Amino acid sequence: MLEVRNPYSSEVIGTFDAKTKETICSEFSAAQKFQSSWQKTPLGQRMRAISQFKDLLKKEESALARVLCQETGKPINQALAEVSATGERLDFFLNHIEDAIGDQNLGVRRGVSEFISLEPLGVIANISAWNYPYFVGLNVIVPALLTGNCVLYKPSEFATLTGLNINRLLHESGIPKRAFSCFVGGGEVGQELLSLPINGVFFTGSLATGKKVAEAVSGKMIRTQLELGGKDPGYVCEDASPITSAKSLSGGAFYNAGQSCCAVERIYVHEAVYEEFLSAFVSSVKGFEIGDPLKKSTYIGPLTRPAQMRLLEDQVADASSKGAKIICGGQRVGRHGNFFEPTILVDVNHDMRVMREESFGPIIGIQKVSDDDEATFLMNDTSYGLTACVFSRSQQRAGKILSGLKVGTAYWNCCDRVSPYLPWTGRNNSGMGVTLSIEGIRAFMAPKAWHMRGLR
Ligand code: NDP
Repeated sequence: MLEVRNPYSSEVIGTFDAKTKETICSEFSAAQKFQSSWQKTPLGQRMRAISQFKDLLKKEESALARVLCQETGKPINQALAEVSATGERLDFFLNHIEDAIGDQNLGVRRGVSEFISLEPLGVIANISAWNYPYFVGLNVIVPALLTGNCVLYKPSEFATLTGLNINRLLHESGIPKRAFSCFVGGGEVGQELLSLPINGVFFTGSLATGKKVAEAVSGKMIRTQLELGGKDPGYVCEDASPITSAKSLSGGAFYNAGQSCCAVERIYVHEAVYEEFLSAFVSSVKGFEIGDPLKKSTYIGPLTRPAQMRLLEDQVADASSKGAKIICGGQRVGRHGNFFEPTILVDVNHDMRVMREESFGPIIGIQKVSDDDEATFLMNDTSYGLTACVFSRSQQRAGKILSGLKVGTAYWNCCDRVSPYLPWTGRNNSGMGVTLSIEGIRAFMAPKAWHMRGLR
């Protein structure tokens, strides 16, 4: 029995039976049998269903946001922003699908016509995270369905109610049950899905689980995409505005209580503006309201997973024991709920876990640097490679620094931002593969090369 608990009140807000092995196998078989007719369904019909899904999301957005807020602790305004921004992503897929998947005619060489067609992978598994369930789930589900794949979707157990809402709305929109099914349950349900003869796996989650997923499918030779964690750095040059950069970076670090894959997790500041930046950053963070996630003015809610509190405490203790100074926060707070105070650590260095390991919570280390070379070295001193940002008046200077970083996304004077038009991709321990952009549509297809010579 799976219990869904509100991380603010600790109340149980839903109980479910996890899918059994038998049901998982039979739903997989149904999808496998159905896939070729789903592939042959006219694209226009699939597009109409997704367009209808978009309308239903819009119609129900307040109720959907409330459920997301109650099961994950995401503040209601941030939950609403997620649900409503999903529409823009769906528009991107709907507006670009035809161009993205059409045949490419490459001309005639020595009497042979050459062209490329794209075909769906088949039946794919999508194992998803809880922190942005609409974004990360639908980045996979929607292009996969539009391109003619059947999808076996496992939401995180911490976003079960939202996963079931996505499931219900897709079916109400006309997506057949055999093309899309939702597998409620914990990690063992994910493992069960991976044991099936699926044609691809698209995973979003932690590095630790990502490694298990990669191992589980290593013998299958199937498309494997892993969107994993990060330890995303920001650098404030001495020619940047300390006030503007502090405002942007504090939001990037503490939005959704720092539980974003592209949250800013470490900041390097040029010594010439360090004091001014720090004071602006601290005052911005002190302005964030912490509390009941259903209250509209709340900026920082409880952490979704109780276990994360311990990890943050350990990182603070480790940093303190090695000489870090706590400027604010540093501990649990409140009588109930998984609340951790927004925490700022200075006098940090890369011997400390907080500067190396993903924190995934409201905690940040700020380190003083003397020049761009030192900042670049420290930003690259990580096993992750999701995003990085540089604040500087000079585009050329920021461009030079960002070009030298091993990351999938580069931000100049902004951070913690995702666009459906741009590929979302990580390097090294941040994973492999692409969602979003045209490439993130083609990720669900396999190319076929055609060599065609007419008989004389
Ligand atoms: P987890 O790795 O804990 O879980 C991810 C999913 O995997 C869940 O559905 C989980 O189920 C399932 N799972 C757990 N064990 C297994 C297993 N052995 N086999 C198959 N599936 C399994 O990650 P979180 O959900 O906690 O998400 C947070 C992480 O996701 C962070 O590291 C974050 O950085 C990353 N992330 C990355 C993004 C990116 O775009 N790069 C975007 C969003 C998040 P259950 O939860 O039910 O146990």
